[in-house]
Amino acid sequence: MVTQAQIIEWLQVYANVIDHHKEELTELDAAIGDADHGINMERGFKKIKTLIGTLKGQDISGILKTVSMTLISSIGGASGPLYGTWFLRASAIAADKEELTAEDLLYLLQAGLNGVLERGKAQLGDKTMVDVLSPSVAAYEQALSEGLDVVPALRIAVAAAEHGLQETIPMLAKKGRASYLGERSIGHQDPGGTSAYLMLRSLLEAVE
Ligand code: ADP
Ligand code: MG
Ligand code: MG
Repeated sequence: MVTQAQIIEWLQVYANVIDHHKEELTELDAAIGDADHGINMERGFKKIKTLIGTLKGQDISGILKTVSMTLISSIGGASGPLYGTWFLRASAIAADKEELTAEDLLYLLQAGLNGVLERGKAQLGDKTMVDVLSPSVAAYEQALSEGLDVVPALRIAVAAAEHGLQETIPMLAKKGRASYLGERSIGHQDPGGTSAYLMLRSLLEAVE
């Protein structure tokens, strides 16, 4: 089970992780984008940090919805609407739930991914956050089908996310600003994939 308190913990952990990785994310984006991914994410999650007190009084769905609205209004760029959509879809899955079962979490991760796919229209292999989110959802689903519970299944999902992230390095970007670089986007790790990996790793840390 994932509790409301663990969802809050996840957001706190992730906000701190973004803070620590701000420079790294921006450097990754400097190589193939416009050098603002760390700045964008930091702007959004700094706002989330100031809202933690209010979030504590909301249910899981309400928390995720507030996060969505906050990210959409404060991040900007490509990643703002994409993460905003991820959290909005996640919020819908959590509606009326006090806690999330391992299966609820699967539906939540799937819904978030589907929202990103619909919003950004990226396909697997386009060198985006989809290349991290998609294999991690598949790995989580597989782990559940083998009878694993939330924490061990998430461990496997995070490992798959990390693997997916490494795989973005040799990819040629077909979406977002990095796609303007064509062949020159090859050989660099995707910034949004990196923040997506950190988001899942933070979730694991919060529920462990
Ligand atoms: P911007 O490119 O507008 O400056 P960011 O730098 O914050 O926005 O985010 C860039 C990241 O967004 C990329 O590394 C990539 O992972 C992700 N991204 C960009 N376009 C798409 C898309 N169409 N679908 C999914 N992810 C995308
Ligand atoms: Mg950018
Ligand atoms: Mg930008």
